[in-house]
Amino acid sequence: MNLETPANALLFDRNHIWHPYASASSPPPCSLVESAKGVYLQLAGGKQIIDGMSSWWAAIHGYNHPVLNEAIRRQTEKMSHVMFGGLTHEPAIELARRLIDLTPPELNYVFFADSGSVAVEVAMKMALQYFHAKGQTCKRRFATVRSGYHGDTWHAMSVCDPVTGMHSIFGDSLPQQLFANKPQTPFNGVWDESEMSNITELIEQYHSEIAAFIIEPIVQGAGGMRFYHPQFLQCLRKLCTHYNILLIADEIATGFGRSGKMFACQHASITPDLLCVGKALTGGYMTLAATLAASKVAETISSAAPHVFMHGPTFMGNPLACAVACASIDLLTDNNCVPARIAEIEQQLREGLLPVRHLDAVENVRVLGAIGVIEMKKTVDIAALQPAFIENGIWLRPFGKLIYTMPPYIIDNNELATLINGMVNVVENCAFQQKKS
Ligand code: PMP
Repeated sequence: MNLETPANALLFDRNHIWHPYASASSPPPCSLVESAKGVYLQLAGGKQIIDGMSSWWAAIHGYNHPVLNEAIRRQTEKMSHVMFGGLTHEPAIELARRLIDLTPPELNYVFFADSGSVAVEVAMKMALQYFHAKGQTCKRRFATVRSGYHGDTWHAMSVCDPVTGMHSIFGDSLPQQLFANKPQTPFNGVWDESEMSNITELIEQYHSEIAAFIIEPIVQGAGGMRFYHPQFLQCLRKLCTHYNILLIADEIATGFGRSGKMFACQHASITPDLLCVGKALTGGYMTLAATLAASKVAETISSAAPHVFMHGPTFMGNPLACAVACASIDLLTDNNCVPARIAEIEQQLREGLLPVRHLDAVENVRVLGAIGVIEMKKTVDIAALQPAFIENGIWLRPFGKLIYTMPPYIIDNNELATLINGMVNVVENCAFQQKKS
């Protein structure tokens, strides 16, 4: 088969390639992307669409960015990869320095991982090794809140929402973790301390078995795009400290400005014991994640036999990924212009999206930082909506009842207006259809 024609390439893809969360035998339609530049994806056939997803939270500076391209190109000429066991290199050292500078002073040790899920696995392993080193071997379980999402690998799955999460099919095969009620008070709501009673009871009952509590700070992403009150995190931090439980902040989606702060933990001014980053770390150029550990965690793990942390993937600290991550962080922090731009994006998303909250079919509209969410009353028909979005010149991938966007920060006002108008158009149309039925 000649794969040079788009139709044949798509047919081959359909017959042989497994896509995320998709059937192999009857996959949903896929669009063929030929290239991407700025906020635009160039589809085969000539259509250009604005990426409202930043390739799943990652491409914060858009595509084909000259500075990021140059960082990769320069690093390629030095070396694309060397093993990290017994060897080190400037891109990893520079990236670790930047991550340590950006995060609270206690987080002094960086472990590079291959993907977000692996960074979560690493954090969970560190928590277990920490209590092993302290001789508190009863602390082997993990606690979390409902509606969370932490990745698709085994232990990461075990702390995703057990009922509505994508992993319920694996049921009893997964390690059984402890789940508290999800945070209730919205980000800007009136804080009600009684919200902590359920989580407090859980921790009081099981603290002697719990090694760590893992949570997505402020924004519960794939578990429902929910924005919760910073006070929840502050109370959780206090509970964890009081009961000798490590707090793992999963900032894989929220890290690097997305919620309006560099890290979402900053909304609550808390410091976790372990912090996971990924996704936007490389500006969406390639896969890389990291787990940052507080000194007490890293030093305790190293203080008792076997005196090492038992993890070491082949592509750990890949120089190309580290080099582009350094360049991406520099783009974020130089001149401090990105936080101001995110505040403008937030304002425009608010003004553009809030009017649809009055439609009958819409349950709720919420915006935080560069994230805009329209929650519908009924589950949306993704197969029907996606062509409509493309028709409107935009790329979105709704799930469940949620139509949402987290655009690249480089999006300009006109492009953002096109994105917002496209969302509103499609929602109005879909609201109309739902009203009829
Ligand atoms: N944690 C969170 C909060 C995430 O949103 C994701 C990815 N959607 C992950 C972990 C897993 O990251 P990855 O897909 O890179 O394994």
